[in-house]
Amino acid sequence: STQEQTPQICVVGSGPAGFYTAQHLLKHHSRAHVDIYEKQLVPFGLVRFGVAPDHPEVKNVINTFTRTAHSDRCAFHGNVVVGRDVTVQELRDAYHAVVLSYGAEDHRGLEIPGEELLGVLSARAFVGWYNGLPENRKLAPDLSCDTAVVLGQGNVALDVARILLTPPEYLEKTDITEAALGALRQSQVKTVWIVGRRGPLQVAFTIKRSLARGSGWWNYCFEQPRRSQGWRRLPAGHRPPAPGASAFSEALSRCCPRQMGGERQASAWQSPDWSLSLVLPTLSPQGVGEATRAVPTGAVEDLPCGLVLSSIGYKSCPIDPSVPFDPKLGVIPNMEGRVVDVPGLYCSGWVKRGPTGVITTTMTDSFVTGQILLQDLKAGLLPSGPRPGYAAIKALLGRRGVWPVSFSDWEKLDAEEVSRGQGAGKPREKLLDPQEMLRLLGR
Ligand code: FAD
Repeated sequence: STQEQTPQICVVGSGPAGFYTAQHLLKHHSRAHVDIYEKQLVPFGLVRFGVAPDHPEVKNVINTFTRTAHSDRCAFHGNVVVGRDVTVQELRDAYHAVVLSYGAEDHRGLEIPGEELLGVLSARAFVGWYNGLPENRKLAPDLSCDTAVVLGQGNVALDVARILLTPPEYLEKTDITEAALGALRQSQVKTVWIVGRRGPLQVAFTIKRSLARGSGWWNYCFEQPRRSQGWRRLPAGHRPPAPGASAFSEALSRCCPRQMGGERQASAWQSPDWSLSLVLPTLSPQGVGEATRAVPTGAVEDLPCGLVLSSIGYKSCPIDPSVPFDPKLGVIPNMEGRVVDVPGLYCSGWVKRGPTGVITTTMTDSFVTGQILLQDLKAGLLPSGPRPGYAAIKALLGRRGVWPVSFSDWEKLDAEEVSRGQGAGKPREKLLDPQEMLRLLGR
């Protein structure tokens, strides 16, 4: 039975979900072999391309992932786009089980007129730019304006606002890209407005992570708004003590004197002269706390600005026509990680439960998927008989001209990045160009 042979398992995606699922499988089955396929040349998903550069401690999970990758029963195959270079069906034929952990790579659009205008960017692309995501390396956001607006009130909204306002000297020793640092040094942005449908009591960001652990000046911004709802960059070197989370709601309420609990709702921009028209909402009397809904009042206010970053969420996309997908919820329909109606196919992470939650939430959820898969294996629900695993996929990729990179290839790139960062006192200077990375690997 599969239980006595080497179960060949494949994981798609090398973010926290992929690595934590692999970790669970390897720990709880003494013979299982796990192959991790990743479309980028480098591993770790949003830990590398999402987590803000000024939150280096969050990236320590990379050490755990690296230990997993070093297991002789685990292999990393980067530079393979599942759904394009290899189909999910081909993976299912080669492995006893396939786990989809490919995250939520797209951004949710606002779907209002003006969204396509120059100067209106997705926060996802902005984050990708300062974090060195190859596809966003040429973004070049125009930071010559005085005022930026971030639409949305989640952790990502706060990350981009913080990066825009942080004095660049606080970012110099982080792994932010040199290009982003250069642009931020020239930035004229002094005020960032965070616009949300609902009020300070319903914001979706985690106070501890996004505020209290900041450098201190950010908290201060809440208390010293230049205008009623604007937050400003403080003079370089200014580091007031960080107030605790309790100060937050009080400070934020002072930032929103108009109406405690009722903020602004973006509806449409008027013209490219950088005025954002906001429909002022009020809160519905129905529902309390987080369940409170915003309803438009009809009152409109214009907010002059030079940059708009829309940050209303990420979303997953279907990977392959053979895999069920719920376009409304933006997830793969599943029961505790078992993909509905497809035996042997599993999912974990953001593609399983939607793009919310921090890395520890993703870890817990990935362990559940790993556990369910092992239960199914034990119960004889997975295909019996040996499966070729990577040997079959390698041959197939070779025929298609796709050359995967290994974890030791990543370690070469990693060493190169670390050495490029050394001169500037940075933990690394990220490589941005896939062609250059391949050249460095002798391809
Ligand atoms: P991802 O991390 O997105 O991993 C998915 C992987 O799949 C990626 O490597 C991707 O390249 C790969 N992939 C996609 N499509 C394919 C394909 N077709 N073929 C092969 N591979 C594919 N959490 C915290 O705890 N602390 C923080 O400070 C924090 N900051 C964040 C900042 C931002 C901007 C964002 C967006 C999230 C942040 N999070 C943070 C949340 C955390 O990043 C997520 O919980 C976690 O990354 C989700 O893991 P995942 O593996 O499901 O997705």
